[in-house]
Amino acid sequence: MQDKHFNQRIINWHALHGRKTLPWQSDKSLYKTWVSEVMLQQTQVATVIPYFNKFMRSFPTVAYLANAPIDEVLHHWTGLGYYARARNLHKAAQTIRDQFDGKFPEHFDDVIALPGIGRSTAGAILSLTLGKNFAILDGNVKRVLTRHQTIEGWTGEKRVENRLWELAERLTPAKQTNIFNQAMMDMGAMICTRSKPKCTECPVSEDCLALKSGTMTSYPTPKAKKKIPVKTAVMLILCEDAKTIQLQQRPPVGIWGGLWCFPEFENIDSALEHLSEHNIEDYQQTELATFRHTFSHFHFDITPLLIEVKQHETSQVMEDSGSLWYNLQYPQKIGLAAATKKILNVVNKKLDKE
Ligand code: SF4
Repeated sequence: MQDKHFNQRIINWHALHGRKTLPWQSDKSLYKTWVSEVMLQQTQVATVIPYFNKFMRSFPTVAYLANAPIDEVLHHWTGLGYYARARNLHKAAQTIRDQFDGKFPEHFDDVIALPGIGRSTAGAILSLTLGKNFAILDGNVKRVLTRHQTIEGWTGEKRVENRLWELAERLTPAKQTNIFNQAMMDMGAMICTRSKPKCTECPVSEDCLALKSGTMTSYPTPKAKKKIPVKTAVMLILCEDAKTIQLQQRPPVGIWGGLWCFPEFENIDSALEHLSEHNIEDYQQTELATFRHTFSHFHFDITPLLIEVKQHETSQVMEDSGSLWYNLQYPQKIGLAAATKKILNVVNKKLDKE
């Protein structure tokens, strides 16, 4: 394959079909590119756009982000998932405020040292904003390259990853790096898509080895599947006067770190025991349907247990630090775990009917 020929075709394609009007592409800055790249790490462009716009309205500069309470940042992330990204953004903004005078660094080594920024994201931030010559290797680029060159093996494996980086660096042109990188990401997202690649519209189809052998969707090689364990829990939805619900903040590390959830118990008996320990005896109890939330390393089967009480029942108790009464009519701006949001919706619907 002639590298020049490959990158020129990609660049030419971008001139006609690439995305050029995304919110982070107008009035570019390192800060905007950084936030967009982090949001795009696990999420599609169409989903990211409204989140990005709202984030920029609330945190227009690194300083705004660094000085905001983490709860407010997590609140803006509610629904995007992978909350470690938001916590890392906040931590990195504080590092930039404290160590770089609030100005986003322009040297690769400084950028990659920030929390939550890996080699590909650092390369994307500096190349897309400043036109610096760094290759990128995000999920879209990996898909295009593994298919085009039929590179076998799971891309998380060091050996495969090194080979892909070598290839990405070789193909990335010294000039127009920004356009090439943007074009590769667009190509992966719009043409060389996961399940039904549009090979007839692809600018590099003429020498794509996967197309030649009809094996496009076999690449990238998936990770060998491990059976993941199932954990179960009962979540206690303590609801006062059909208006407020008790939430607890999770510890900063671990699943849903720093987000607000319901108190969690091994089973219904231990949840009811907890109520009686707090002298809550007069209540209406409803077991809601169990549902599954899947993390990368386990399935979590959650049974919400709705306990409806009158206010005087709980006013003296359950006021521990790290817990709050969430107002269903005037919700506080806090970061909610995906499962919390889901349960709140179910409870809201149920209370509306009553
Ligand atoms: S020809 Fe098809 S499989 Fe090959 S790179 Fe293009 S879109 Fe992807």
